[in-house]
Amino acid sequence: MIARVSLEIALRKEFDYLIPPGLAGQIEVGSRVQVPFGPRKLYGCVTALAEESAHTNLKPILKVIGAQTLVTPKVLKLARWIADYYCCAPEIALKSVLPEAVRKEESGWRERLFVRALPVTGEFPKLPKRQQEVWNIIEERRELPLQELVELAETTAATVRKLEDRGLVEVAPQISERDPYAREHILPSQPLPLNPAQAKALEEIIGAMDGRGACSVLRQAVSNDAKRPAVDTQHATRNTFLLHGVTGSGKTEVYLQALAHALEQGHGAIVLVPEISLTPQTVERFKARFSSGKLQTLVAVLHSHLSAGERHDEWHKIRQGRARIVIGARSAIFAPVEPLGLIIVDEEHEHTYKQEEAPRYHARDVAIMRGQMENAVVVLGSATPSLESYYNCKKGKYTLLELPERVDNQKMPHVRVVDMRQAARGEKGIPIFSNQLKEAIHQRLERGEQTILFLNRRGYSTALQCPKCGYVAQCPNCSLALTYHRPEQKLRCHICGFMDAVPAACPNEKCRNPAIRYAGLGTQKVEETLVKLFPHARVRRMDADTMKRKDDYRKVLGDFRAGKTDILIGTQMIAKGLHFPNVTLVGIIYADLALHQPDFRAGERTFQLLTQVAGRAGRGDVEGEVFVQAFAPFHPAIQYARRHDFTGFYEQEIEFREQLKYPPVSRVALLTLKGRNEDKVKFSAEHLKRELEKNLVAAVYDRRQSGEKNATVADRRYNFSDLILAGPAPAPLLRAETFYRYQIMLRTRAMSKLSRELVRIIQSLALPEDVTLSVDIDPVNLG
Ligand code: ADP
Ligand code: ZN
Repeated sequence: MIARVSLEIALRKEFDYLIPPGLAGQIEVGSRVQVPFGPRKLYGCVTALAEESAHTNLKPILKVIGAQTLVTPKVLKLARWIADYYCCAPEIALKSVLPEAVRKEESGWRERLFVRALPVTGEFPKLPKRQQEVWNIIEERRELPLQELVELAETTAATVRKLEDRGLVEVAPQISERDPYAREHILPSQPLPLNPAQAKALEEIIGAMDGRGACSVLRQAVSNDAKRPAVDTQHATRNTFLLHGVTGSGKTEVYLQALAHALEQGHGAIVLVPEISLTPQTVERFKARFSSGKLQTLVAVLHSHLSAGERHDEWHKIRQGRARIVIGARSAIFAPVEPLGLIIVDEEHEHTYKQEEAPRYHARDVAIMRGQMENAVVVLGSATPSLESYYNCKKGKYTLLELPERVDNQKMPHVRVVDMRQAARGEKGIPIFSNQLKEAIHQRLERGEQTILFLNRRGYSTALQCPKCGYVAQCPNCSLALTYHRPEQKLRCHICGFMDAVPAACPNEKCRNPAIRYAGLGTQKVEETLVKLFPHARVRRMDADTMKRKDDYRKVLGDFRAGKTDILIGTQMIAKGLHFPNVTLVGIIYADLALHQPDFRAGERTFQLLTQVAGRAGRGDVEGEVFVQAFAPFHPAIQYARRHDFTGFYEQEIEFREQLKYPPVSRVALLTLKGRNEDKVKFSAEHLKRELEKNLVAAVYDRRQSGEKNATVADRRYNFSDLILAGPAPAPLLRAETFYRYQIMLRTRAMSKLSRELVRIIQSLALPEDVTLSVDIDPVNLG
């Protein structure tokens, strides 16, 4: 027998190996194996078995890793879809579906010595006092780790061995699972009676779970062409729900009861949450419902803060079917749950679901794909859904479920938008604090309440904005903020490459302010100013500069929670998921900073950010207040956020996306060339653009021109009639980075097809050695 093996090197090629007699019967599709490759030994995954090979002189497989196949056929299929759709080498996709701790199998299972009580035959011996005390513990527990016993009984291993000599106990090595939550005492929780909105949402989800046959046509389409599923994430599925509910509306309770239903049906489930919200409290809510008492192992947790050993054990608990519910960050979507009945993606709009290195997959979209392949119900939840998901509801592809009110009927915080153009009047520089915000902070200090000040500093680029009238320099083609390039004193669009001079004065006819240059501003400056204004306040700053170690983060937040800090200043680090009852004021220093990122999602991000940040205020008994300072106070993203009006925001934002054919109306592929030599990078980018044009756009046109009258649209290999190709344009230099980057952006609705074409084009593309190309399908970051 011969095994086809995908090796962990991105060659886009599989290799045949002999299955030696000693390993016969142990190797299946999905087995992880070690094989010789030249002088090296490499790991790989078996993707197929065959009787014969086109090659001769095959080498034998060296060894098999793990007792079970690690990549189940379903996950293997999912990995293939990822490779195809996200244009990455299949080896890279395959590698990412297993946690490193499982792939390398270095930590393996941990064995520890366990003490076990043996059945007592005959009369129980009279023991010395010490030994009797130790025995009492063993008798009660029946079995426990030796180490634990020694600590518990304050004794030594030697004493325990004496009991062994008497034939009372057995001391033997045994697999001991590393349970990251072993020390937590979790009180079991019961399902809550649902309010009408929750009940309706749950009913619909359960209805879909019960009628899982409804998608049989789609399922066939998938299984007929296993290698290349005919569906993509944009295709209709009645099995996908978007649960839109404000923070505190009881989404989690709906998830919990839907999960209970999956278990009743004998199905397993995956719950995805963003890494940052994967706090012990979140995990505890799920464990409390399903995993307390006897059912210790029902819930497995997968995330990056676990040790390699813990991750190994959690994963195998899932693979062995002992854990039925998996809760984890992005990569938990690959957990080998079988059969899979339900996938929940909480905070589905979060950009951390997108992996920023190959394979550049979006876990939400993979979840939808996996749901279709395995006929599982998918529930996406958010207080601020992504435009993509909401659009799919409008198109009838997903079912929209709404929880419009907070469970406790608490009011949403009051949001005040402060016009910074007024604050700037008469000032020399650009002010950091408006009088209104200063006054509000002062009040909080007097009342002993806490304040969070927020400054978004994502990105390195700066837009050009007039502090007097709010004017922002925009690209005429792309409607995105132009980026100010300091070295050349130019404004550039980094989507299409449009270039303009920096104006000497504000171009707004009515303004003509000569001081248009945008001064950079950081959290540090905010802190300095604040300390001058309120010398007695206890101020702490939390950003990438001050948070060097993991512990810093916990310490600062701990102090803040304990009331040792009055004012916390931070970047987006503090925007999410934190809950401090004593915070009654949230100030957003410059909302515009998020608004004028050169990204078509800038408005959407600002809306989400303001909504999330506002959610930090007034979660206790006192009503919260939010101040949003902005130079463009009437921007729709700010105004709709002020009114907590998601649908209003959606309606106007989707119009903008329609006009310029940005997602969700189309899909984007972003090709980035990177290298140290700018000329080479630029040249390569132009070369790539010509290749793209030749292959995707111009083919039909050329053939018609050369007299081939019959060349019709139907003749095109693919119909890219809606293709938009923009660039190449230089991406702004990252601070402290010496690489030049040029980008080409492609937009089309037919992304699955385009992906296939891109792989072909890229593979035949000759690039200089020191220029690298990366492909990002459905990017969330256009920087
Ligand atoms: P979300 O996930 O939408 O932010 P949660 O599920 O966390 O909302 O609910 C917020 C709070 O309300 C939680 O403390 C939860 O226990 C409580 N809660 C949820 N549903 C109900 C209900 N039907 N009755 C009473 N309390 C509820
Ligand atoms: Zn442009």
